[in-house]
Amino acid sequence: MSDCIFCKLANHEIPTNVVYENDLACAFEDAEPQAPVHVLVVPKKHYVNMTDDIPAETLAAMAEAVREVARIKDLGDGFRLISNAGAAAGQTVMHLHWHIMGGKNLGEGLLPE
Ligand code: 5GP
Ligand code: ZN
Repeated sequence: MSDCIFCKLANHEIPTNVVYENDLACAFEDAEPQAPVHVLVVPKKHYVNMTDDIPAETLAAMAEAVREVARIKDLGDGFRLISNAGAAAGQTVMHLHWHIMGGKNLGEGLLPE
C-alpha cells in the first residue's frame, strides 16, 4: 500500500473535506488555505507532477473537477490555477495536484514579492 498522503485522501482511505470527485480525480480543501477558497484537485492514481506522462482522460477529469469546484465555490469572478512541479517550484507533496485559489481579488502578479 502506498504511503502517499494524497493517494489516501483521494481514495477515501483517510477522511477529508471533499468538494467534488469523479471517477479519476478528487478535489478537497487544502489543509492550510492561502486564500478564502483553496482547493486541491488531484488524480486518484499516483503521478508525481506535470512532468509525468498523464493519460488524457485523467487530465480531462481534473479539468472537469476544476470547472465543478469553480461552480460549487461560486468563483465566477475568477480564480487562479497553480501546479508546482519539483523542489525549486516549492512542490512539497509529490503527488500531482492543482491548486485552485480564489474568493478574493488575487491581483495581477503570479509570484509573491
Ligand atoms: P505544494 O507546496 O506541494 O504545491 O502544495 C502542497 C499543499 O498540500 C499545501 O498547500 C499544503 O497545505 C497541502 N497539504 C499538505 N498536506 C495536506 C494534507 O494532509 N491534507 C490536505 N488537505 N492538504 C495538505
Ligand atoms: Zn499519491
